Amino acid sequence: MSTGALRRPETAGGLRVGVLALQGDVREHVAMLGALGCTVDEVRGPADLAGVAGIVLPGGESTTLSMLLGSAELVEPLRERLRAGMPALGTCAGMILLATEVLDGRSDQQVLGAIDLGVRRNAFGRQLDSFEADLAVAGLDGAPMHAVFIRAPVVERVGVGVDVLASVDLAGASRPVVCRSGTVTVASFHPEVSGDPRLHEIFLRDVAAVSATRTAYQHA
Ligand code: GLN
Repeated sequence: MSTGALRRPETAGGLRVGVLALQGDVREHVAMLGALGCTVDEVRGPADLAGVAGIVLPGGESTTLSMLLGSAELVEPLRERLRAGMPALGTCAGMILLATEVLDGRSDQQVLGAIDLGVRRNAFGRQLDSFEADLAVAGLDGAPMHAVFIRAPVVERVGVGVDVLASVDLAGASRPVVCRSGTVTVASFHPEVSGDPRLHEIFLRDVAAVSATRTAYQHA
């Protein structure tokens, strides 16, 4: 990953965010967030959640991550923080974990239900198992986003209140690959692998905005 071109959002200094660090491409997310100027905690258990103002759920294997979330006793604490408005960014398996509905998952697969999406695992099919594409993402300035898809999920249902920011064509149908609802942003690809920081910057802006509101409340 090249971090040379990362721009620091003005807001990132002083923010403390977490990366779920049970499995998957944790290191890439930690490196990108660090390069953007915030403090990054690796989250492995409920106690690690206390100090973070936002969380990134990495790519990996959602069935494994779901089991590890269970054994780390993180499912309920995470659901609670997300319900209370903690911003989140999920990439690939992280997107699956944040959705409300998983198709082709394990029967006991846990979801965090933070964004109302129905996602099907590994549904780009054999030929498209892994591929790259340049995507126009709504709201992002500059060049198209170079997206690396690795056994990516397909969004099959988009709930009320979810904005689709980018899509790709799959067998003649347009499939959402970047979605956002409130302060939860998900991508079915890996921006942390291609090194494009713009979705992480959106996440950090959400973290800054939510933190500013909370601080204002505390001072009121
Ligand atoms: N196929 C994986 C899953 O279902 C996701 C792959 C990824 O995160 N690159 O969890």
